[in-house]
Amino acid sequence: MSDQPLKRELFDQVMVPNYAPATMIPVRGEGSRVWDQEGREYIDFAGGIAVTSVGHSHPEMLATLQEQGKKLWHLSNVMTNEPALKLAQQLTAATFADRVFFANSGAEANEAAFKLARRYAHNKFGPEKHEIIAFEQGFHGRTLFTVSVGGQAKYREGFGPAIEGITHLPYNDIAALEAAVSDKTCAIVMEPLQGEGGINAAAPAFAKRVRELCDQYQALLVMDEVQTGVGRLGTLYGYEQLGITPDILTSAKGLGNGFPVAAMLASASVAEHFEVGTHGSTYGGNPLACAIASKVLDLINQPQVLSAINTKSKHFKAGLAAINERYNFCAEIRGSGLLLGCAMNKQYQGQASTFQQAAAEVGLMVLVAGPDVIRMAPSLLIPDTDIDDGLALLEQAVAKVVG
Ligand SMILES: *Cc1c(COP(=O)(O)O)cnc(C)c1O
Repeated sequence: MSDQPLKRELFDQVMVPNYAPATMIPVRGEGSRVWDQEGREYIDFAGGIAVTSVGHSHPEMLATLQEQGKKLWHLSNVMTNEPALKLAQQLTAATFADRVFFANSGAEANEAAFKLARRYAHNKFGPEKHEIIAFEQGFHGRTLFTVSVGGQAKYREGFGPAIEGITHLPYNDIAALEAAVSDKTCAIVMEPLQGEGGINAAAPAFAKRVRELCDQYQALLVMDEVQTGVGRLGTLYGYEQLGITPDILTSAKGLGNGFPVAAMLASASVAEHFEVGTHGSTYGGNPLACAIASKVLDLINQPQVLSAINTKSKHFKAGLAAINERYNFCAEIRGSGLLLGCAMNKQYQGQASTFQQAAAEVGLMVLVAGPDVIRMAPSLLIPDTDIDDGLALLEQAVAKVVG
């Protein structure tokens, strides 16, 4: 091999074709800025899909990576380790939960959550109580169980038979939920705000009814906070804003700032149904991942940091609204904290990715959430000047598309 830079074309020769990556290849990042092989600069409003919560190359993250890297990476769950104990202590102190299970991705944390919910119901009420209620447009990962619970049929197509006993209902529809829930329901699974599904927030009244029905039917409320957790919505977890408490919660993306780590949190009375030997993960809870997540929590879970996220959110939304006033391309600017969406108006239906492409061309990374929504999920520590510079680029991109 020569030391010529590897090109995007190589992707098609050596990779499974399940992704269609951009033509440029990023090589370096700092804060909310990224540079590609050609030295071209981008402002990062994508945050690696709501993952790089404290930004690229954060000095304290680098120090933690080095420090723990020199000590211990992995031993397996035959032994516990100090970073895992510390992280579990932090997570239980900061949330409703009493117990933590560590995994490596959002899908794995959800897999654990869904298995635990079924196991709990099986142990306490018998095998009949195994049905899961989930919501249309919901996203929970790409394993077979998680695509089965997910509310987008296209992710299940051709992978059948799917996991049985799952019902999908319209999100925020109390009447549909009341009609579907029964003594056979073991869990209701929801995101506090649907990320992949289009930046759709749960109505507080809906969330409250979900909780009531779970209590009434002795079902567990599983809150998927893989995307919304770790400060993304301006509180450490999104459920706090809905005035309800889940029984199980999953957290991943922002927790590791790009290092693969995930957690399933549960109350003690639920967690006890994962007895010794019932579930596990080779890497889950390894010292390197846990030390990193622990540092992310240190950096984010501070009142002034969380409140700054809300201030940045207002600033960001006002900037988006101002662009929309000049170019009239979206019907709604929505989301909370730093998980924001611009929903296309009638004229631009289906064209979110056209705007995304135009943004990339002027040096701005944004995301989409389905065909009709431009999604932004930058670092939670993004400086206001980067928000302003990025919005100026977005305006250029919008001007090009709208004309
Ligand atoms: C991204 C996401 C997942 C899946 O996480 P992976 O780490 O990709 O497995 C699950 N649930 C939600 C809400 C997500 O946004």
